[in-house]
Amino acid sequence: MDDYVRALRSARRQGIDALDEPAGKKILEGAGIRVPRSVVVKAGDDIRAAAAAAGLQAPLVLKLVAVGVVHKSDVGGVRLNLRTLDELASAAQELQTSLRSRGIEPQGWLVEEMAPHGAEVVVGGTMDPEFGPMVMVGLGGIFVEVLKDVSFRLCPITKADAREMLEELKGAALLKGARGGAAANVDVIVDVLMRVGGEGGLLLRGEGDLAEIDINPLIVSPEAAVAVDARFILNKGP
Ligand code: ADP
Ligand code: MG
Repeated sequence: MDDYVRALRSARRQGIDALDEPAGKKILEGAGIRVPRSVVVKAGDDIRAAAAAAGLQAPLVLKLVAVGVVHKSDVGGVRLNLRTLDELASAAQELQTSLRSRGIEPQGWLVEEMAPHGAEVVVGGTMDPEFGPMVMVGLGGIFVEVLKDVSFRLCPITKADAREMLEELKGAALLKGARGGAAANVDVIVDVLMRVGGEGGLLLRGEGDLAEIDINPLIVSPEAAVAVDARFILNKGP
């Protein structure tokens, strides 16, 4: 059994609903999907020293890690573009105070590097009760949330399927650099789709243990695709 399946099973045995973001990102990294360089800092530890020791390059991102907080932005739990270690430390102070006033006790922080600018894409997957793992792709933000502009395929997909999925999106032109944006690198999105939904991908390997994977967003620049958020929801059944 590989580390990925072992992590899913051990979380299920502990009755956990979903892996936290650092654990999810470790799995993505193990599967060859790029994630930001990061460090996890326990609440109360010296966040400046930890970020410096990890050699992280500013600008940095500060994120809340807390049991039960799924949408970090909803509670103000994500701070972007912190330019110095001082800004990082004071952002953590402020966030701690505001979270406590909402009754949220941070377990710790995820401090990570900012991904290069690019288009925000969502890659995910669910388990269809009849057909098994399905992989999904959409454009981030309002395209997924409001316009439901997503495409699905049964796993395993081929590279040709992955390309077709992207072409099917109503907003596909945005990936090609419409409206003055830089063209996103379609090949790197195809690569991520294969690692999630292809033969031997995360969805097929997680079948039985997994309910859902959500990479929201994958930030796709001309050079790279970086998964800046990751959620693995576990199967509650037997
Ligand atoms: P949430 O739990 O609210 O979905 P995310 O981790 O997705 O939190 O962060 C919210 C938003 O902040 C993302 O949609 C993305 O636009 C931006 N973001 C998060 N992490 C990074 C990063 N490392 N680099 C650049 N932008 C980021
Ligand atoms: Mg997110």
